[in-house]
Amino acid sequence: MEDNREEVLSKIKEGIVNLKESPLYKIRIKNKVLPVIGEGSHSAKIMFIGEAPGKNEAETGRPFCGAAGRVLSEMLDSIGLKRKDVYITNIVKDRPPENRDPTPGEIKVYAPFLDKQIEAIKPDVIATLGRFSMAYVMEKFGLQKELKPISQIHGKIFEAKTIFGGVKIIPLYHPAATLYQNSLKKDLFNDFKTIKNYL
Ligand code: URA
Repeated sequence: MEDNREEVLSKIKEGIVNLKESPLYKIRIKNKVLPVIGEGSHSAKIMFIGEAPGKNEAETGRPFCGAAGRVLSEMLDSIGLKRKDVYITNIVKDRPPENRDPTPGEIKVYAPFLDKQIEAIKPDVIATLGRFSMAYVMEKFGLQKELKPISQIHGKIFEAKTIFGGVKIIPLYHPAATLYQNSLKKDLFNDFKTIKNYL
């Protein structure tokens, strides 16, 4: 890699670790848990963006390392990818209490870090996991008119322009959703096949 992405990514990490203005920072310190920055290849062609860390993630500092993570690994495996081949992160980098949905304020505080991660990694494909990252990423790339309920647009390909070139955005169901609603697992497997065609 000939650009400064390592330096940028390490600055992003430092910024999140010290993000005192986040309402979730105090909770992180009080509970002695970790922020979850992101993990995987810094030159990944595909970036997966989830919602926010859960309990396991905050304890280890690693994204998608619990039950939802096992589903994600299974999906990656089904198209011949390993976690180290892709980059996995979330919009919100600290765990919201009781795994509640992230608030608009929390998304706003953490989103600039996600924006910089996307710019540093320059993926060809961004796969969003769940409705929060779908809405954020589609709006960020000017696709708000195309935004519909996830049941209508999962697995579809949206094209967007970025400062580093074109990117394909593919909204996916959140892997955790398949744990509650088993029928979604087939959709998720199918949508991963779509991803494979674009890599
Ligand atoms: N759910 C998410 O959205 N992200 C994680 O890292 C784990 C579970």
